Amino acid sequence: MRLFKILSASVLILLLAACSNTSKGGADDGKLQIVATYSIIADMTRNITGDKAEVYSMVPIGTDPHMYDPLPADTGKVSSADLIFYNGLNLETGKGWFQDLLKVTKKEAAAFAVSEEVTPMYLTEKGKESQVDPHAWLDIQNAVKYVDVITTRVIERDPDNKQYYLDNQTAYVKELTELDQYAKEAVSKVPQEKRVLVTSEGAFKYFSKAYGFESAFIWEINTDSQGTPEQMNRIIGVIKEKQIPALFLETSVNPKTMETISRETGVPVHSKIFTDSLAKEGEDGDTYLKMIKWNIDQVIEGLSKE
Ligand SMILES: [Zn+2]
Repeated sequence: MRLFKILSASVLILLLAACSNTSKGGADDGKLQIVATYSIIADMTRNITGDKAEVYSMVPIGTDPHMYDPLPADTGKVSSADLIFYNGLNLETGKGWFQDLLKVTKKEAAAFAVSEEVTPMYLTEKGKESQVDPHAWLDIQNAVKYVDVITTRVIERDPDNKQYYLDNQTAYVKELTELDQYAKEAVSKVPQEKRVLVTSEGAFKYFSKAYGFESAFIWEINTDSQGTPEQMNRIIGVIKEKQIPALFLETSVNPKTMETISRETGVPVHSKIFTDSLAKEGEDGDTYLKMIKWNIDQVIEGLSKE
């Protein structure tokens, strides 16, 4: 009955009227109602729930989930959600937007950090070493851990379809594991000294550790000030010293700073790269599997240039 306590009275009446299966709630059609804070978690969730749930992704495609101003529609979706999945690890923290949203909607008990089984990594800049880096999903083995949490919580809410969710998990984890192996094999063909990945935000710590890269950045995390003269000078120095052949531009940051760095150094931006958002539906990188494949292929192509 815990679920009922966190539903508002009006939703409860609707639920009782519309739905004889009391293990699920929220909507007239009886499907689980799930909110994910951003597109990457929404995609992972859909791979597990298939057509058994409505998954609503809050932060729009191409937008930064570190900072976000929820819209009235988001508040409505969160209020009536059976489950809310967020990254945690210091991602959805800018101005406390997500915690405030949970508080206002009284949905803390329905919200789960999908990163809860991940070993956190920390920021490296002086004075920030106690802050967790959120970008754990860029290591595919961490994505497998995310999927594990998602599957467990979905089954808790909808035990009747347990086997369906477990089968989906098995199939999805197989694809993730194959991509992880593909990435490791592909990267091994790039000489070690060429494996330096320059992006705007320092989002590639987990990725770099998993796939043997060094990552460099203009600013370390999107909640920092972005593109100060000190940050610009430092990265220009690194690019020159290490003779880096290619830069990468995330789809979810303002492109201006990286474009300036490219002009100043004469090093081209090789391609866009996906960190905190999927691509729009129908474009390259519109699922987690496709965005990671894109990243791997583009990074290897760019850094293999003379
Ligand atoms: Zn980020």
